[in-house]
Amino acid sequence: MFSKILIANRGEIACRVAETARKLGIKTVAVYSEADACAKHVAACDEAVLIGPAPAKESYLLGDKIIAVALATGAQAIHPGYGFLSENAGFAEACAKAGLVFIGPPASAIHAMGSKSAAKALMENANVPLVPGYHGDNQDPDFLQKEADRIAYPVLLKASAGGGGKGMRIVEKPEDFKAALASCKREAINSFGDDKVLVEKYLTRPRHIEIQVFADNRGECVYLFERDCSVQRRHQKVLEEAPAPGMSEERRRAMGEAAVAAAQAVGYVGAGTVEFIADYSNGEDGSFYFMEMNTRLQVEHPVTEMITGLDLVEWQLRVAAGETLPLRQEQLQLNGHAIEARIYAENPEKGFLPSIGTLRYLHTPPAVHFRVAGHAQSPAAVRIDSGVREGDAISPFYDPMIAKLIVWGKDRDAALTNMATALAQYRIVGLASNIGFLQRLIAGQAFSTADLDTGLIERHHDALFPAQQAASTATLGLAAALLLSQETPRAPDARDPWAQTSGWRMNGTLLRTLTFSDEAGVYTMTVEYRGSAQWILHRDGTQHSLRVDDHNHADLRIALGDATVAGNVVRDGDVFHVFHHGRHTVLEWDDPMAHAGHSESEGGRLTAPMPGKIVAVLVEKGRSVAKGAPLLIMEAMKMEHTIAAPADGVIDELLYLVGDQVAEGAQLLAFTPA
Ligand code: ADP
Ligand code: ADP
Ligand code: MG
Repeated sequence: MFSKILIANRGEIACRVAETARKLGIKTVAVYSEADACAKHVAACDEAVLIGPAPAKESYLLGDKIIAVALATGAQAIHPGYGFLSENAGFAEACAKAGLVFIGPPASAIHAMGSKSAAKALMENANVPLVPGYHGDNQDPDFLQKEADRIAYPVLLKASAGGGGKGMRIVEKPEDFKAALASCKREAINSFGDDKVLVEKYLTRPRHIEIQVFADNRGECVYLFERDCSVQRRHQKVLEEAPAPGMSEERRRAMGEAAVAAAQAVGYVGAGTVEFIADYSNGEDGSFYFMEMNTRLQVEHPVTEMITGLDLVEWQLRVAAGETLPLRQEQLQLNGHAIEARIYAENPEKGFLPSIGTLRYLHTPPAVHFRVAGHAQSPAAVRIDSGVREGDAISPFYDPMIAKLIVWGKDRDAALTNMATALAQYRIVGLASNIGFLQRLIAGQAFSTADLDTGLIERHHDALFPAQQAASTATLGLAAALLLSQETPRAPDARDPWAQTSGWRMNGTLLRTLTFSDEAGVYTMTVEYRGSAQWILHRDGTQHSLRVDDHNHADLRIALGDATVAGNVVRDGDVFHVFHHGRHTVLEWDDPMAHAGHSESEGGRLTAPMPGKIVAVLVEKGRSVAKGAPLLIMEAMKMEHTIAAPADGVIDELLYLVGDQVAEGAQLLAFTPA
């Protein structure tokens, strides 16, 4: 076994790999960018070396530099994690040349699976079923359109070198084909440096079911069952579970054997995932087709670990060190049910737009650790894999994933209950997160009854994005209690009547109006002061006595009328984040003392919603445009974002060119509404 390895990644996966290395007594070397100097993964490793500025191209993607660091620190092997260099055949080769072990498959296997087109050609020969389509070399637009017409619409265009849900376009009808092709190729060249695309039949009601495989370098290969990753947004996974609901033993074996055949066809070694799409469109019975093979450890590997009781990183390290697979196929067992939710810094209500900022306050559900091979799962096993702590930032440079929350239960219902409980305990302040959305998804009819397919989120849009409910009296009581108690002066100057803010007045009680608002409305209350830390709240004609019983950091317990209400309140200036009954309400206090008026005149300004790069400018100066017309396309955090005209009007000035980097809030162009 190795005595020291370098981890060529960041975030949760770097921390995850470091944990197993520590368990096995292996020393770890972290690499980090300037943006990550204080990151959790740096602290998680025994040594850390700075490799460059924040952009991945100048740090985490610098293979030669990372190899030099490995040699200088005496590491014998490099674990690439996922993303970054993990599927870079050139890097795997360079490691071998430098005498380092690449903890992953041989370069030839990465290369063979790296192009979706070439991989499909290989799979065709290995008799692995494929979705009807064209995956050849001819890239002439007219030819590709003819292929699409032959396959029949809808079709899916995919960047052959694509990954991470990028570089895909659904084409519904022939008229849209050419524009979609151009846009797909643009994204493909920008993101992957290769504009080759393939065309596939677009299945209208598929499930994404993938098989975890593992091979050693003696040719042994096993499958560690399946994961269902059908719940996706923008072709990116949101929820993953194992086993796949409704999977029969027979089909599990058929898919497992097809996956092993796929791996063996390319001489695979190590951990890999063969992704299949299973067709459940009208009347189909779930026939499965090869989609791609990911030649690395997958983000969602923890659900497999939870149902098998195995540590897949340990397997990776053992296989890379030349050991045989720890278990044979017939020794592998599936136990219970696991679900993973990806907690992202994003705004589901705004088209899942990534959110960046500092995690000002972070409270995670208690984790019940389980990662010990062979041990039975605790009935409420909860695991959190995270690369950030309170005070850390989610920056625009990397993936906006905050954490993975993984739960286990003896069956799917038990796992669902554990997930709901854990999500209700998760509290994040400082940036937008998808927690509320995940709660609705978990509780929603479709997911809870396992009515799964990749269109689940879109199809249940209305239920998943309900109009925001008005804040409850308990929520308002918690916010008011924090606000009022913070105004109550503390000991020394409490005797000076002029320093008091407790509302005492010479001639009777003070009545004061307190106004909070959120997206659902404006809440006005009248507060009557009743001595120290006691008030009466009047709201909508009802009175509630209010008293603070206990206050410790964000935890607040109040007596509100006859009820005791416990919750958590985090104040950020005039914004009060109230967590009550698993719900996060963001209340803005209308502070009468601070009325300068901060209304932002939208005028003729169009600003960048986040930092990013301009990838296309679709209008020119002087052009008249209709409301909603696309003006610019930005790329940020691995997604394209179209800036559209907010109204009918004229473009007065373009302020950036293609390729320019823009800061968040930067004015992109000058526009006069008609
Ligand atoms: P998985 O299939 O393992 O669930 P994804 O396919 O979404 O996950 O991608 C795995 C990871 O690799 C993601 O976290 C993402 O950050 C990263 N990744 C995928 N494609 C790219 C890319 N083109 N550029 C940078 N990172 C990528
Ligand atoms: P990536 O490399 O980005 O992960 P994949 O080929 O694995 O790309 O596809 C990602 C997702 O896109 C799948 O999980 C599935 O939801 C959807 N998808 C891919 N191919 C098809 C298809 N032919 N029909 C319908 N949906 C598809
Ligand atoms: Mg995929």
